[in-house]
Amino acid sequence: MSFTHVRLCLAWVFLSLAMPNTLIQLNQVSKSYPNNPNGGVRGINLRIQQGEFVAILGESGSGKSTLLKLIYGLLSPTEGKLLFQGQEILGPEEKLIPGHKHMKMIAQNFDLNTYAKVYDNIASMLSNTDLEGKKLNTLAIMQALRIDHLAERRAVELSGGEQQRVAIARALITKPQVLLLDEPFSQVDVLMRKQLRADLKRLSKELGTTMILVSHDPLDGLSLADTLLVLKQGELLQKGTPTELIDKPANVYVAKLLGAANIVPAEVANSYFGFQLAATEQLVVYPYECKLVEKGMKASITQIHYQLAHNELELNVEGHVLHAQVPLGAYAIGDYVQLQFSNFRIVSN
Ligand code: ADP
Ligand code: MG
Repeated sequence: MSFTHVRLCLAWVFLSLAMPNTLIQLNQVSKSYPNNPNGGVRGINLRIQQGEFVAILGESGSGKSTLLKLIYGLLSPTEGKLLFQGQEILGPEEKLIPGHKHMKMIAQNFDLNTYAKVYDNIASMLSNTDLEGKKLNTLAIMQALRIDHLAERRAVELSGGEQQRVAIARALITKPQVLLLDEPFSQVDVLMRKQLRADLKRLSKELGTTMILVSHDPLDGLSLADTLLVLKQGELLQKGTPTELIDKPANVYVAKLLGAANIVPAEVANSYFGFQLAATEQLVVYPYECKLVEKGMKASITQIHYQLAHNELELNVEGHVLHAQVPLGAYAIGDYVQLQFSNFRIVSN
């Protein structure tokens, strides 16, 4: 091998290591519905890596389910291309079986065989070529999803949250490369929700499964995902890690959606808070960044919300409403407090 060959080989090895392993790619993808041209999604560019946990966040009607169905191949794009490992993802008109063979999507109704036992619901996803392996794998995935004690129960006898876990077990036992979940926590109560979030996160890392989850609750994304996508009216507003989006929201919409941020317009920030913002700029301050101090900006308390570990105060600063998360204390409506921002960011729109 010549010296040039060695150099070329080294460059190739370096490039393959440096290039992230793109699993799914969307190029300028739009989908509009014939009877609703303003619905769907528009101009989405996106790359999802192998093993990444992605959460798609946005208000109801922002296009989250449309995007998930496009990725799974249940909808065809009106414009643009979707690729899975470089191969075009075909829409429903182009194949017999709906969906993509390397992905599993958990439907809202869970698609369980309601009168069959939990064990059989899950085991039936595997072939009978290796009966011992089938049994071991079924037991393992039931344990991983904490439903082994329900093995003999019929699906119809389970709660919504338990059925959800069976549906996830059914999907994961077939070892899909991608698991797509549309609002998986909508039927799960608060405690179970926390547990299911933790289990999904652990399983995605243990199994190396790429997970794409849709939610309207920002906490789902913030607590789970490697990457968040924020959609608004069918457009992708921002993509990044939870910390990136909280620290550097692209606009006030993202800051409000993710962190219920206080948005202080330039004129208020300049006249009452001593900033020098341009007219197009706004101050973004999360409630947990509003501190009560000895000497700061004077604010009156207009509402008090008890939140277990802290109080959420609604404050009035010269006619402008701010929300502050403060330590538990004996606050009273009408009291005056002194306020300071421990952190803030300036966002222009
Ligand atoms: P999300 O999941 O974020 O609530 P969807 O993707 O379901 O949003 O919908 C996005 C937009 O597209 C909404 O305005 C919705 O009304 C519209 N839409 C969704 N599905 C259809 C459909 N089959 N026909 C017409 N409009 C649709
Ligand atoms: Mg939806």
